[in-house]
Amino acid sequence: SSVRIPELKHHDELADLVVEFNGMLDRMQHYIDQQSDFVQDVSHELRTPVAILEGHLQLLNRWGKDDPEVLEESLSASLQEITRMKSLIQEMLDLTRADQVDIQFPNAVTDIHQILQQVVNDFRMIHPDFTFTFDDALEGETFVRMYRNHVEQVLIILMDNAVKYSTSRKEIHISAANEEEGVAMAIQDFGEGISPEDRKRVFNRFYRVDKARSREKGGNGLGLAIAQQLIENYKGTIEVDSALGHGSVFRVNLPVITSNQAAELRRQANL
Ligand code: ADP
Repeated sequence: SSVRIPELKHHDELADLVVEFNGMLDRMQHYIDQQSDFVQDVSHELRTPVAILEGHLQLLNRWGKDDPEVLEESLSASLQEITRMKSLIQEMLDLTRADQVDIQFPNAVTDIHQILQQVVNDFRMIHPDFTFTFDDALEGETFVRMYRNHVEQVLIILMDNAVKYSTSRKEIHISAANEEEGVAMAIQDFGEGISPEDRKRVFNRFYRVDKARSREKGGNGLGLAIAQQLIENYKGTIEVDSALGHGSVFRVNLPVITSNQAAELRRQANL
């Protein structure tokens, strides 16, 4: 950027400081650019629900008093739109907060095995029309350095999507195993799938393959961005494999710690 200091010719501590300073400026500029992109995306996303609300309020204003049908329809459509905006705002907050977790919860530790079992059972109850198979190769407690809510949030986002984007075959496969790099989890559906082009973008905030369809299902295009942000903050990885028309697999890897390390972290957290 324009405020950078020209690099010095000598190689001394002052020259090092200039390089350091310029690096800092670049990082700040990058951060500012990211923030301004985000504000732009948010304004764009809020425009649709606001326009819909405005339309319904105009209808109400003009005909609502005389026409009970307009009254009922526009009122319920407006309420629905407000609900959608509330969830959009909540997800945007989640996304910005996902950035800061490392500092906030340095001693966070969670048994991911237990959370997985719980989430799978919850989904079995909420979606009785689906079959959930859980290929569970984990033995006993499996600790990750992650805040409990965040583990749940990531799993729920992926499970929700698997259900949402399933087609006629209502089957979800979940697997978990201990591998060299940590715990490896996969959530597989047999639904509409994602094309190679879209696969590169589904983790981008507000990206939806089919805006209208996703909107119909209550999607804001923020779920996967939140999941990725959280997983990467905890030094894990998340990726997708998919075949259009056949289904998708989302894979998550997270570093694990031993029970002794987990006990020590918990002890420190309670001090
Ligand atoms: P949304 O709220 O729209 O579901 P996400 O960030 O969770 O937002 O997902 C982004 C987009 O990626 C979705 O709109 C959908 O097009 C696609 N997608 C996500 N999960 C799946 C899946 N399991 N199968 C097919 N498409 C998916």
